[in-house]
Amino acid sequence: MKYPTDIVIFGAGIAGLWAFNRLKSMGYDVILLEVAAIGGGQTIASQGIIHSGLKFSIAGKVNNLAKSISKMPERWRACLNGAGELNLSTAKINATSQQMLIPKGFMGDLTNIITRKTLGDSVRNMPKNEWSEDIKNSGFNGSIVNMGELVLDVPSLIRSLADPYKNCIRKITQEQASEPFKFLKDNNITAKRIIFTGAASNHKIAAKNNHDSGLKTQARPLLQGMMRNAPFPLYAHLIGKTDKPVASITTHKMSDGTLIWYLGGGVAERKADSDPTQVYSATQKAFKLYMPAIDFSDNKWAVLSIFRIEGKSNTDSWMPDTPTIHRAGDALYCWPTKLTFAPMLSDMILEDLKKHGITPSNKISNFSFLPDVEYAKTPWDTAKWTK
Ligand SMILES: Cc1cc2nc3c(=O)[nH]c(=O)nc-3n(C[C@H](O)[C@H](O)[C@H](O)COP(=O)(O)OP(=O)(O)OC[C@H]3O[C@@H](n4cnc5c(N)ncnc54)[C@H](O)[C@@H]3O)c2cc1C
Repeated sequence: MKYPTDIVIFGAGIAGLWAFNRLKSMGYDVILLEVAAIGGGQTIASQGIIHSGLKFSIAGKVNNLAKSISKMPERWRACLNGAGELNLSTAKINATSQQMLIPKGFMGDLTNIITRKTLGDSVRNMPKNEWSEDIKNSGFNGSIVNMGELVLDVPSLIRSLADPYKNCIRKITQEQASEPFKFLKDNNITAKRIIFTGAASNHKIAAKNNHDSGLKTQARPLLQGMMRNAPFPLYAHLIGKTDKPVASITTHKMSDGTLIWYLGGGVAERKADSDPTQVYSATQKAFKLYMPAIDFSDNKWAVLSIFRIEGKSNTDSWMPDTPTIHRAGDALYCWPTKLTFAPMLSDMILEDLKKHGITPSNKISNFSFLPDVEYAKTPWDTAKWTK
């Protein structure tokens, strides 16, 4: 049996899922192949923040990154309202805005100047009477900037992208995933474009197939912290004296309803094999400074060791300004750089298809000879917690 199709995508993280859903809705015949679980990898591990660019402008990145990312929230909002390029109306929103907590005397004026200069009116200082009671009671002394950044519930986001076309998402084995062109040939699957959205595996596959000329990628280690029995929901960047937040905190629910704080930013930026207790003590040290009234004596802790995989930044060790896309023959190798950039990456893919005259066939091939794939579990539901 032969399976001629329009597009094959390898990797069902946010990059593959967004492009898949968009292409399917346009009438392309697409199969999305996943080696582990839908949304697995960095996507399920992400904090779900749809960045506006403010965090990067604080870090002196008042540049293309801050500008290109600031166009994204509007597109996400349209999709979440069911009125965008895709329908994400079943995805849940954890918070309508990440907040920036700036202790007294830290960068306050700079924040105001940069904010006004780059990001306009959606970002504003919150008067004290708008602060939550929990923050008021935490001993925080400083200013709070409402960043206008949505924080999404990533598991429901993943489902809203995958559910409508679940039959066309199929599982492959590790062996098949490491030899994707052989897998396609062995199964008589042909496509006009083969898209790789497998994060770390992309570069290896490109190199193995002599597709890596001019391709540069980077992997940045993170040891994300998790704190169980969180005292209250908090969605905040704690801004310190350096150019990166001391900690970026989002709040999530475990499957049994327990509240956890997920801790990124400065406290998590360390080598993969670092001692996890460094993350726990760095977090407590930061909170002692920002919210000294919080008592951490009853909390349980865990870490997730993970790499951020992206195109190599031309300018410094930070992330690139936009998603990265690398074409070699009929293959496209893609990295979104951030969850937030998934819509922009899909634009770049569509542009490539248009440029090469690849149009939707409006048919739906049946790939049910390949197994079904499960949804990824969250890091907090699979973590090894301290006793
Ligand atoms: C801890 C952390 C927090 C983050 N927080 C945020 C945030 O708040 N906001 C934001 O905008 N960005 C955030 N990011 C960045 C964002 O999560 C990533 O840029 C994005 O999820 C990458 O998506 P992806 O689809 O390229 O890769 P992944 O999500 O890693 O997905 C790749 C998928 O491909 C599969 N796969 C791999 N190889 C193959 C193959 N050969 N064949 C088939 N399948 C394959 C994997 O199993 C996986 O499911 C965060 C990243 C990390 C690590």
